[in-house]
Amino acid sequence: MKKYIFVAGGVMSGIGKGIAVSSIGRVLKSKGFKVTAIKIDPYINVDAGTMNPVEHGEVFVTEDGVECDQDVGNYERFLDENIYTDNYMTTGKVYQSVINKERNLEYNGKCVEVVPDIPNEVIATIKKAGEKTNSEFVLIEIGGTVGEYQNMLFLEAARMLKLAHPKDVLFILVSYLPIPNKIGEMKTKPTQYAVRTLNSAGIQPQIILARSDKPLDDIRKNKISVFCSVDQRDVISAPDIDSIYEVPLNFEKENLGNRILEELHLDPVYEKDLEDWSKLVNTIKTVTDPVKIGIVGKYFETGKFTLTDSYISVIESVKHAAYFFNKKPEIQWLSAEDYEQDQSKLKELSSFDGIIVPGGFGNRGTEGKIKVIQYCRENKIPFLGLCLGMQLSVIEFARNVCGLNANSTEFTKEGELVIDVMPEQKVLLKEKKYGGTMRLGAYDCKIKPGTISARAYNKELISERHRHRYELNNSCRKLLENRGLVMAGVNPEKDLVEIIEIKDHPFFVATQFHPEFKSRPLRPHPLFREFINASIQR
Ligand code: GLN
Repeated sequence: MKKYIFVAGGVMSGIGKGIAVSSIGRVLKSKGFKVTAIKIDPYINVDAGTMNPVEHGEVFVTEDGVECDQDVGNYERFLDENIYTDNYMTTGKVYQSVINKERNLEYNGKCVEVVPDIPNEVIATIKKAGEKTNSEFVLIEIGGTVGEYQNMLFLEAARMLKLAHPKDVLFILVSYLPIPNKIGEMKTKPTQYAVRTLNSAGIQPQIILARSDKPLDDIRKNKISVFCSVDQRDVISAPDIDSIYEVPLNFEKENLGNRILEELHLDPVYEKDLEDWSKLVNTIKTVTDPVKIGIVGKYFETGKFTLTDSYISVIESVKHAAYFFNKKPEIQWLSAEDYEQDQSKLKELSSFDGIIVPGGFGNRGTEGKIKVIQYCRENKIPFLGLCLGMQLSVIEFARNVCGLNANSTEFTKEGELVIDVMPEQKVLLKEKKYGGTMRLGAYDCKIKPGTISARAYNKELISERHRHRYELNNSCRKLLENRGLVMAGVNPEKDLVEIIEIKDHPFFVATQFHPEFKSRPLRPHPLFREFINASIQR
């Protein structure tokens, strides 16, 4: 059995389609089904890897090394399942694949056309993703908003799949109901228009998730039901809430899981296993004792607004670990560049229980981050460095402990290049082959016994996800080691340093990989867990 659920968005973007899809997935999983989720981004970029995080939010990386939209991270966190390459599609990726097939004569001399060949490719990929993960339910999130030009071919694919399998395909619209200040009443008209627009694409939504500031009342439910031709039981109230992890529970209060099963001609399932999930939500709602973590980054500012999406997996990992210890995570954004201009600001860092320097690209802000790292090392503030955060930790150590004029080839050609470009990357960079060519996805790492990492993981061989072109320069390794830098994890095949630690420090760990991509709400990542533990001790 395979069932396909398409989720599209109405009225405006940013209303939480990704969380809705993730939560539907969790609800179905709790009823005993095997579920996977697909994200469709309608833009031309072949993947998210070439986009600035300020533009698009975090670039999430899968086990098999796809650089994709942050929603895939939400799917993995809510479903507690790994997601693979076929679960991520963009217009660029679909066209690229169709064009490659055409060049290989795979269309047998036929004229290849936008319709039906593009939607057919989308459908084939959706089916492949379902096969690979052996799933009973495949959830497909169509990015963007209905009515825009970019996602039309994906809606067309949804319509065509429904035509082929009428009983196995379900359409859900996530819509938004504004409550204009001056009117003070929840308005349904924009949703009615969104449904009309979907109708004109040949699609009738069977369930409407009504996002709003407040819960829907019966009057609104009835209105949407009548004007949008949806059973009133299938108009689901989805008000704003404090924690995203509460959404599956709220959906279940509205009986969404069984409504989905009934719409797809399946028997309702009344037992559900949301017990651990409910416990987690209860913890989230009741914790009061704070653990205060500073994240030093640079992808925060867009105009007058602060954007935290760029670091979403890091933030969620901190939360998972804090909840594990029954603490309330208090996360503060610290702008790296501030520490370059005003050194006295460094003292503020002492008011935090722990500091994280996450990943990043390019020179901007790096000198500020290095100052922060030095302050954490010298003042014994628990510190976790991620990817660029590790590279800068090595530079800091080489400069301030070993007395070298140290730097990274990413920023300069001068001085002692303790961080250097990986040999295979040199050719790629010279040929300007930037897209999808970093060292991506999961690689093994051997942990050195007796280290903080060894205690955290409690095993010798681990696997973590990567996204980088630069690495610790092995020709400097001995020198750094002799001065006390601990090479706590090394990739066995290529002998690349993957984790460094500092001795005589409550917690100073930095990783070349991104542990944040593998933390799950009910299973915090071991390094985040130990980092938060050390932060609590402080
Ligand atoms: N810019 C660094 C590199 O490419 C670090 C990348 C990252 O933080 N993801 O190696």
